[in-house]
Amino acid sequence: LIVLGIETSCDDTAAAVVRGNGEILSQVVSSQADLLVQYGGVAPKMAEEAHSQAIDPVVREALDKANITESDLSAVAVTIGPGLSLCLRVGVQKARKIASCFNLPIIGVHHMEAHAVVARLIERELQFPFLALLISGGHNLLIVAHNLGQYTQLGTTIDDAIGEAFDKTAKWLGLDMSRSGGPAVEELALEGDAEAVKFSTPMKQHKDCNFSYAGLKTQVRLAIESRNIDAKIPLSSVSSQDRSCRADIAASFQRVAVLHLEERCERAIEWALKIEPSIKHMVVSGGVASNKTVRARLDKVVKKNNLQLVCPPPSLCTDNGVMVAWTGMENFCMGRYDPPPPADDPEDFMYDLRPRWPLGEEYAGGRSEAR
Ligand code: ATP
Ligand code: FE
Repeated sequence: LIVLGIETSCDDTAAAVVRGNGEILSQVVSSQADLLVQYGGVAPKMAEEAHSQAIDPVVREALDKANITESDLSAVAVTIGPGLSLCLRVGVQKARKIASCFNLPIIGVHHMEAHAVVARLIERELQFPFLALLISGGHNLLIVAHNLGQYTQLGTTIDDAIGEAFDKTAKWLGLDMSRSGGPAVEELALEGDAEAVKFSTPMKQHKDCNFSYAGLKTQVRLAIESRNIDAKIPLSSVSSQDRSCRADIAASFQRVAVLHLEERCERAIEWALKIEPSIKHMVVSGGVASNKTVRARLDKVVKKNNLQLVCPPPSLCTDNGVMVAWTGMENFCMGRYDPPPPADDPEDFMYDLRPRWPLGEEYAGGRSEAR
C-alpha cells in the first residue's frame, strides 16, 4: 500500500508518500517564510496564492523523490480541516484532481489528529489508547486517543496557543522570524537567565486541564516595553547588554510557558488514567514539540508518572505531509475512505472542507474533577 498525503491548512505547502509498513518514501515542504516576515503573520489571501503556486511542484517532487507515479498509489489523503478554508481548498482541489484522474480513493484528514497519529509511525509499539498533548500555532490540546477517529478532549486553550505566544515574543524581541518565532526564541533563551524576569504561571487557581497564554503574552510585552527594547533594531545590531536583556526575557518566558504545560500534563495524566487505565504512552506533537526544553521537561513529568513519552522528530512535529499520508493510511486500512471523485466534476468539493472541526468530545467529567 502507498498513500500520498497533502497538507495546505496553514502556511506550509507539504506533500509526502508513505508505505503501509511506515516507510517514508518522500517528504517535501515548501514554507512561506518570506511572506511571514513581510506580513508578520499569515495573511489568508497571500497564503492561498502561495499554496496555489507551490502545490503542483511540491506534489510532483514528492512523487518523483518516492520514485513512483500516480498510478502506483493506493489512495490520496488530504487535510480537510481545521484551518483556513482558502488554503485548505488548494490542497483538497489537488487531491481530488489526482484521485479523479487515477481512479483513487480519497481520505479527508483532521490536521490535529494527524499531528497525534504520526507518532504511531515513529513508535510502532504505540497502541491506542494513549494521551496526547498537541501544541502548535493555533492549538493547545490535551486529548485521550481511544482509537483512530475517537477522542476525548481533556483541555484546550481558553485564548491563545503556546506557539502564538512564542511567535509574538520573537516578534517583540526583534528576532529573525524567517523560520517562525519558536526556534528563534529557543535559541536566544540558551543565552539567558530563566529566573531573571518573574512572570506568573497562568491559571494556577483553575484545577482543570485548560490552557491560557494571552496573559503571559501581555506580561512579556510589558516587560519588553518597560526595558525600552526596540524590536525594530534586530538582535544582530544591539549592544551586548541589550542582547542579554532580550535573552533573559526569552528564557524566562520559555520557562513559564513550559511550566504551564508541565502542570496541565500532571493533571491530565491523572484524568486520563481514570478514563483509560491501560494508557502507557503520552504523545507530544505539533510545532512547539520540536522545542528541546519542552521535550526534556515533559519527559520528566511523563517518566515520573510511569508513562513513556513519544515525541516525533522536529520535521514531523511541525506541519508536514507525512502525518497526513500516515493518518490517511491508517484510515484506509480500516476501510474509511471516499470513492474516487467523479471525473466530470472533480472540483465539486466544497462540501467536505471543515475549517472549524473540533477533535472529539469534551470530557464530561472535567467540571467535577476541577472542583
Ligand atoms: P495548527 O497546527 O494549530 O493548525 P500550525 O499548523 O501553523 O498550527 P505547526 O506547524 O504545527 O502549526 O506549528 C507551528 C508553531 O510551532 C509556530 O507557532 C512556531 O513558532 C512553533 N514552533 C516551531 N518550532 C518551535 C520551537 N523550537 N520552539 C517553540 N515553538 C516552536
Ligand atoms: Fe499544525
